[in-house]
Amino acid sequence: MASGASVEQNMQKAAEYRAAVAQRGVKNLINGEWVDGAAEFTTSSPIDNSLICRVAEGDAADIDRAAQAAWEAFPAWAALKAKTRRDILYRFAELIEENAERISLLESLDTGQPIRFMSKAALRGAANFRFFADRVEGARDGLSLPADDHLNYTIRQPIGPVGVITPWNTPFMLSTWKIAPALAAGCTVVHKPAELSPVTAQILSELGLAAGLPPGVLNLVNGFGETAGKALTEHPHIKAIAFVGETVTGSLIMQQGAPTLKRVHFELGGKNPVIVFADADLDRALDAAIFMKYSLNGERCTSSSRLLVEEPIYDEFVEKLAARVEKIRVGHPLDPATEVGPLIDPGHLAKVQSYVDLAEEEGAVKAFGGGQPAGLESGNYIRPTFVTQATAEMRIAQEEIFGPYLIAIPFEGEEEALKIANGVKYGLTAYIWTRDVARALKMAHEVEAGMVWVNSQNVRHLPTPFGGVKSSGIGRDGGDYSFDFYMETKNISIALGDHPISRLGAS
Ligand code: NAD
Repeated sequence: MASGASVEQNMQKAAEYRAAVAQRGVKNLINGEWVDGAAEFTTSSPIDNSLICRVAEGDAADIDRAAQAAWEAFPAWAALKAKTRRDILYRFAELIEENAERISLLESLDTGQPIRFMSKAALRGAANFRFFADRVEGARDGLSLPADDHLNYTIRQPIGPVGVITPWNTPFMLSTWKIAPALAAGCTVVHKPAELSPVTAQILSELGLAAGLPPGVLNLVNGFGETAGKALTEHPHIKAIAFVGETVTGSLIMQQGAPTLKRVHFELGGKNPVIVFADADLDRALDAAIFMKYSLNGERCTSSSRLLVEEPIYDEFVEKLAARVEKIRVGHPLDPATEVGPLIDPGHLAKVQSYVDLAEEEGAVKAFGGGQPAGLESGNYIRPTFVTQATAEMRIAQEEIFGPYLIAIPFEGEEEALKIANGVKYGLTAYIWTRDVARALKMAHEVEAGMVWVNSQNVRHLPTPFGGVKSSGIGRDGGDYSFDFYMETKNISIALGDHPISRLGAS
């Protein structure tokens, strides 16, 4: 496995996988056939912006063919015996595990994410399939709701073909997080991956076919958001859209889907607070705050991008944090020692750097970071950035930056911490560090976030609900919450006897 391999071994294996991808390119999968798109675009590696391969560029006609295939495949897939569907999804998980090295190395090459994190991405993807495969047999379960004269009971049925639209940051894992429950529920899928990192989506579809998914059950159409993505959200055969990406895109998708009354599930941006009180275990809080911002290149929706520190410990805490940030190892993502790799593309690098410049313009203090590390100028590398003495209303404290960039804001007491924490448009996660249980509970209840961790970093448990409030999203994933999205609940009411029926026109 890539995680135990040296940088040389990773590079050699990655070069082999890359050569194979370069030769074939990334295709679309429609109705079980690998096909070219109407045109082509390319994907490049953030390591040096060199070409990885050509990618089929789907347009509205390709989306139409894929949606039609998903529509035709739906009745048989939905009617399949639960055990058969479960077995296919288990096989899918096994194949992901067997291909974990290829997936991890290509994901690192295509996204710039360090291999130390990506080596687990494929395994987490497989775990998602296993988790939902285990629940296939119960997915249709409903409630028994007896009334005086009727027995009511509910069942759940798959909603139909769904569209899955994913972002570029950790594409493989996020795609499985959406596609596994959709397939388990009995839906068919058209997947539109992000144009900036499309390589591993092709492997996912390839493994789905090999696992025995019938043609049309999982379709893949690559392309741009404004064309292929838009057409998917507008297609009348597509009953729901599961979307992960930026808040503004979510808003556009809602508009695009309105004429066909799409059900939508949105996992959007964040500006998540980590709130450290003076009574916390400060060493653990420090480790968690650093991990939650600088892992995955900071290109992580649940990252703790605002560090709120109680006044009495502020100076000491930020000083220790700055010393650690300075030592974070920036480098080639295939090097197992690398902690932060290159950002997805030059445009995103320029965006993150613009916030480094803005920090000083707004009057905050740059403790460390910004600019390109020496020797790494040919890729989209930036030095991890830590900004102190920020205030809540600054743009650097309000806007999602989505890079290895943390700001620190001092606060006095619970009320001020809550005011700052809740004073942004986002509400995805919050992290609270204190040894005072009553305070932890009060803060957890009052902070505006879909998910709260107390004395912890983001540790996922698949049955728990995942999602945000405010501009961070609509709906929840995880466990049964995912089935609620991909399925319709139907109520069936059966008369228990001769209850009264009004006899209109009878006299
Ligand atoms: P993005 O919104 O630019 O793109 C996401 C996807 O949407 C891409 O596949 C893109 O092609 C597509 N798209 C763009 N315009 C579209 C349109 N008009 N219609 C349909 N599809 C369209 O996001 P990104 O830059 O790829 O990803 C980064 C964002 O994702 C960040 O804001 C991050 O916070 C968010 N994110 C959120 C979560 C979460 O769980 N909340 C997880 C990961 C990433």
